[in-house]
Amino acid sequence: PTIVIVGGVAGGASAATRARRMNENAQIILLEKDPDVSFANCGLPYHIGEEIPNRDSLLVATPEFLRRRFRLDVRTRHEVISIDRERKRVEVRGGENAETFWIDYDKLILAPGASPVLPPIEGTDADNVLTLRNLSDTDRIKAIVDREQTRTAVVVGAGYIGLEMVEQLVHRGLKTSLVELQSQVLPLLDPEMAEPVAQELEANGVALFRGRGVTRLVKDSQGRVTEVVLSDGSTIATDLVVLGIGVRPNTKLAVDAGLEIGASGGIATNDFMQTSDADIYAVGDAAEYRFGPSGQRMRVALAGPANRAGRLAGQHAATGHSDPMPEVQGTSVVRAFGATAAMTGLSRATANRLGVPARSVTIVAKHHAGYYPGAQMMTLKLVYQSETGTILGAQAVGGAGVDKRIDVIATAMQFKGTVRQLCGVDLSYAPPFGSAKDPVHMAAFAAC
Ligand code: FAD
Repeated sequence: PTIVIVGGVAGGASAATRARRMNENAQIILLEKDPDVSFANCGLPYHIGEEIPNRDSLLVATPEFLRRRFRLDVRTRHEVISIDRERKRVEVRGGENAETFWIDYDKLILAPGASPVLPPIEGTDADNVLTLRNLSDTDRIKAIVDREQTRTAVVVGAGYIGLEMVEQLVHRGLKTSLVELQSQVLPLLDPEMAEPVAQELEANGVALFRGRGVTRLVKDSQGRVTEVVLSDGSTIATDLVVLGIGVRPNTKLAVDAGLEIGASGGIATNDFMQTSDADIYAVGDAAEYRFGPSGQRMRVALAGPANRAGRLAGQHAATGHSDPMPEVQGTSVVRAFGATAAMTGLSRATANRLGVPARSVTIVAKHHAGYYPGAQMMTLKLVYQSETGTILGAQAVGGAGVDKRIDVIATAMQFKGTVRQLCGVDLSYAPPFGSAKDPVHMAAFAAC
């Protein structure tokens, strides 16, 4: 078969390589509108901060490598502009003269990702107002940070990318402010779980402006933004603005082709990542998954699900069968200086909003045996269904070991575990690593 893939990064590259492994004879065409494929989106902030000094290490696989190793027909700077479902072909613009032509497909995999949302205010077009999604954004932000005159920065949006950017800009010596419309940082967390992260930001010199939005970006005579005006009238002078207020799924191709769009605004899919047209798959930030704690289909814009769904869709497209895509729990982790915050599933606030009858317990524990030097405190909150005890979610904030506890609980959730079952999970233990009664157990005990 001819398998055409739209988008060559997380979901698309995973789909392409899996399809090749499953089918030696398939013709696999990977179309990417930008110059790079298979780069490490998640590493971009750390290159700006020079924790990842070498730009090339962000290139997980080059087009040349994919051509040679996997015999993929990789075409960068080729944008798919429409889908003709009747004749099973896509319209592509690209090549030397950016001409338009058609490519036939037997199976089509859409992995076009998402685009950063811009606030509806003036000034977002200025050269020093940027979003971060790909390597060229990274280069532009880094070039500004590298300039000696750049002393101050404002990051708008206190989600994962916002926090990572704040940390890295501070590492680069910029006086950095963080603006967030909600009254807390990391709005997906329950407020009290996000508070230690806010304190850590402030302890590292970040000026925090919570509960306020940006209403205006003031430009100087050269068209550069020099001041950010907030909804309460306060102003912040700045040399650089980074916007991280969320992403919008790239669904235009799918919408124009009449594919079904789900309630959460992503391309609707079934358990094999097929869209409402069985020969067209959708994966990654543009698609919907089944969300474990609620059973609803929704978007989960994270790299793990994109890679796994890409792999499944690649196999299904190449062979006609695959395992179904498992439920996604929305498991995520972020570092802000010395603080780590991680979560999986539903927060208590989200459970309440969805009308799911939930209870929660919170414990404070050390990440390994207290008598062994260097133990760090963590706060762990477990959310579970009131009647059945089925685990709905967990959040943890602290230092070392936070990621491990959330991953253990995410795994229990994957298998529909209850708090009672969590009491009995057999976890590894020696004093430098944990405790005979792990924080996971302590939270589960408190819930039983
Ligand atoms: P992408 O990986 O974005 O790939 C989509 C590609 O499709 C793009 O290259 C785009 O140019 C191309 N494309 C779009 N339309 C067309 C078209 N019409 N024709 C041809 N090509 C097209 N997730 C985590 O889980 N952990 C993290 O730590 C993390 N950190 C992140 C940090 C940053 C700065 C960013 C931006 C994202 C981060 N993410 C993280 C999110 C993660 O990168 C995404 O969830 C993941 O990349 C989504 O994969 P995707 O294949 O859907 O889209």
